[in-house]
Amino acid sequence: MTFRPFLSGLFVLAIGSLVTAQEMGFEEYEPQSTLIVPEHPVTRAKFPFIDAHNHQWRQRMSTENVDQVVRDMDDLNMAVMVNLSGGSGEELQEVLAKSKARYPDRFAVFANPSYDGIDEPDYPERTAAQFEADVKAGAQGLKIFKNLGMYVFDPLGRVRVDDPRLDPLWAKAGELGVPVLIHVGDPAQFWLPHDRFNERWLELKERPRRKRDGDPSFDQLIKEQVNVYRKHPQTTFIIAHFMWLANDLDRLATYLDELPNTVVEMGAIIYDPGRQPRHARKFFEKYQDRILMGKDTWAPEEYATYFRVLETEDEYFPYYRKRHAFWRLYGLGLSDEILKKVYYGNAQRIIPGIDASLFPAN
Ligand SMILES: [Zn+2]
Repeated sequence: MTFRPFLSGLFVLAIGSLVTAQEMGFEEYEPQSTLIVPEHPVTRAKFPFIDAHNHQWRQRMSTENVDQVVRDMDDLNMAVMVNLSGGSGEELQEVLAKSKARYPDRFAVFANPSYDGIDEPDYPERTAAQFEADVKAGAQGLKIFKNLGMYVFDPLGRVRVDDPRLDPLWAKAGELGVPVLIHVGDPAQFWLPHDRFNERWLELKERPRRKRDGDPSFDQLIKEQVNVYRKHPQTTFIIAHFMWLANDLDRLATYLDELPNTVVEMGAIIYDPGRQPRHARKFFEKYQDRILMGKDTWAPEEYATYFRVLETEDEYFPYYRKRHAFWRLYGLGLSDEILKKVYYGNAQRIIPGIDASLFPAN
């Protein structure tokens, strides 16, 4: 105790104008855990896996970049990457030529629709026909970005997720037997007041444009997407980011129970299962046929956190992005049987054209 003034004096000297411990704010606070418990870091998945939620942009698809992506996939044991940023028409063909044509088994590419001219009378049929052409060209699914429901407007206002002009597109996916991966909305905390009680306070400070007010509400966006899933029971929907309900798994379960044509993928939400390992493990056990591995942002070193949450029973280990989660994580310790479904079995069942020989025979 007696040398504390001496140490804090050194601290001030060492960091110059930065704050002292007495004044430090949340952003500087990085406590180093003193907990000693068994640790089982996992840098390579136990089974080959399909990343159902990834983005590779065609502008960055040089031969060298694509080769490097495949080398990184090999290191992670990622057998197949689903690239959701395929675009449509000529763009899509460029993405396919630069990635899938060179590594046919390692990439699945999803197409994206255009909302241009949505108020034109031929838009619904034209867009469905374009998607059919995209699937013929090699797309293995459709990806809807979150602009639908939030940032797509026609002359009359916001285009709702359940806008009937998109019905022929959803129906077409069902008819062709390819899934629709759909991302609607944002984490619910973005609608809450940006105050000291908000779990995403730091994110809203670093990214103030993510703050959402009023219309549409979080619940309104849930309602609109559920209308689509109900109306198109023949179409399989992969709901991105656990529907932003990974912090309320019982509510998510009510939608999965009602809507057998839906599954969820876990892109960018691993910090939520990882803070409720017992409840989340029960969810994964009950819905083991409805959950897909996915990550979203392509940062190979971050996958280790996903593997550790899913595979181990480690305790109180760090997450990698403080603005998502300032808390530490716990492993779910899923069984091999469930891991195989989440890592590849479920995606393989839903996405056509995946090479079965990449995965264990049973
Ligand atoms: Zn994404």
